[in-house]
This record gives sequence, C-alpha cells and structure tokens, in this order.
Amino acid sequence: MSAEHIKLPGLVDPHVHLREPGATHKENFETGTMAAIAGGFTTILDMPNNPEPTTSPQALQRKIVLAGNRIYCDVGFHLGATAEGVEYFEQVKDQVFGLKIYMNHTTGTLLMEDENELNRVFSRWPGVRPIIIHAEGKTLATAIMLSRLNNKKLHVAHVATEEDIKMVREAKEEGLPVSCEVTPHHLFLTETDVQTLGPFGIIKPSLKTEKDRRALWENLDLGVIDMIATDHAPHTKEEKLSENPPFGVPGLETALPLLLTAVAEGKLTLDQIVKLTSTNPRKIFGIGN
Ligand SMILES: [Zn+2]
Repeated sequence: MSAEHIKLPGLVDPHVHLREPGATHKENFETGTMAAIAGGFTTILDMPNNPEPTTSPQALQRKIVLAGNRIYCDVGFHLGATAEGVEYFEQVKDQVFGLKIYMNHTTGTLLMEDENELNRVFSRWPGVRPIIIHAEGKTLATAIMLSRLNNKKLHVAHVATEEDIKMVREAKEEGLPVSCEVTPHHLFLTETDVQTLGPFGIIKPSLKTEKDRRALWENLDLGVIDMIATDHAPHTKEEKLSENPPFGVPGLETALPLLLTAVAEGKLTLDQIVKLTSTNPRKIFGIGN
C-alpha cells in the first residue's frame, strides 16, 4: 500500500474493564482513557464487574462521580444484572448503555444461572438499549431463547467459536433483534498461541481452534459480526505471572494497529473497520442519541 493519509472517525469500544473502583493498582479512569485515546478510541463503555459491582443506582453514581474530570475520552457505563437489581431498571435505564448479564463463569461475582431469575431480568429490562451477555455454548442458546420469548435486544459479547457464531447467524436469519461482537485476540490468536503466551494468553472466553478463528473471519465478511470490541481487561504483570493468573488482556492500544495490518494484508477494508468500530456500535448502543 502506498503511503497515504487515512482519516477515521473516533473509534468506539463498547466492552472495556476500567478497574475503578476497587482495582486501581491495575488501571484507573485516567490511565484507561489515556490508553483509549492513544489507540484511536474516543468513546468507551465500561463493564460492571468491579469488586464493588455496578448493580445499583448508588454504585453507578459512585462511578460517574469518580470518573468526573479525570477522563480523556467519552465514557459510558453498563449496569450489571442481579436478581435483586430488577427494581432499579426503570430508574437507571437512561443512564447506562446496556445491561450486562454474566451467564458463564468469569471475573467477579455477577454470575446468573437460574433460568427463572434470568427470565425475570429479561422481561423487566425496559429494552431500549441491549442486554449484553457473556454466554458460551448452551447458555448462549438459552440467552437467544430468552430474547425471543421476551422480544428484547440481545448483544452477544466476545463470540469466539464456530458453534456460537452459527447460533448468532441463525438468530439473525430468524429476524431476532440480536447483535454480536468479536475481540481482536480471538481474530488473531488461537489456543496454540497459549504455549508461547503462557499466562498472558489466559482469557475468557479462552483462545479457540484455528477452525473457530477462521469461522469468525468468514462471518465478519458475511456481515454477521456487527462490531469489534477489545474486552480490554488489564492486570499487573505480577498477577499474570502468579499461581492463579486472572483472566484478561489489555486491548485498547493494540486493536487498531492489528486491524490496519489486516487492511494492509487485504483481509479487511477500511470501510469495514469504520463500520465495525464506529458506525455499528454507535447505532446498536444508541451512543450520541
Ligand atoms: Zn469482558
């Protein structure tokens, strides 16, 4: 490719773990939003699974106050779903960009497994903005079923396998209000990379097979995948090198260089980057509305 100027809109990352409050030795609102700007992101949406989870109006307010004048890009928040939290939904629905439900084990204490409780959460969410789920395999099928049953917008976080992307594709073909994202690490790495990455390759969902990775690229081309989200989840080096390395890797500063490399290699177009990292996330999460 010849040297030319590339103009991109400010990128949007709807899946970021900023670590404040409760784990500021890993990152805080200042360092996280600086990383975002350095990586080309001007809007990020912060996940709720902090040590003090964002599951109530009080916890949400605390984050808004903490972020205050310490952020370098636009920051929005997601609410974390709990069985007890449904009573707050009406009150906070206009202050958040989505409701996150953890249906598979990951970092934090927000796991929800009881199908009746899940159905209550789906039915009570006011529904202008999407329900975001961490769900893999069988639990993804349950989430799609609950979305169909309650006619609620569903956004599937970090789809990683051929099986899961097929479920999302079929849900879309059925006409359900379903969208999804993939992470750069699932697009560019596989389980064999864990051998060289060691604990730095420990993430949720885990790195998958080459066949899974290829299925993600195919569905990117088919337009089944709506956006690329980093799932930025930094830890300290000591933590990652410990006996029990926590899940997650940072992504805000590496996503765009990886995507531009893919453009240079003819695997992606600039138009796709704009759609996947700006147009679609703005539309799906109602950013700027
Ligand atoms: Zn995440």
